[in-house]
Amino acid sequence: MKTVGTEPARSSQTCGYQLSTNGWDSRASFCAEPKATGLYYCREHHEWVAADDPNGVVRMAPGNVKGR
Ligand SMILES: [Zn+2]
Repeated sequence: MKTVGTEPARSSQTCGYQLSTNGWDSRASFCAEPKATGLYYCREHHEWVAADDPNGVVRMAPGNVKGR
């Protein structure tokens, strides 16, 4: 999985799921994979987020765009 150290724009086509930080380095990293078509995250992270919700719904703030 590709990652970046700064959060991708919500309006971009990059997943941007925030990954766990590691040890003394408190900087976050974010998933840099492209969003899956019709989803707010890459396929893997869409499934993670959907699995967290009892109804399997992914709720996003306004301004987030889905993958093309
Ligand atoms: Zn992702």
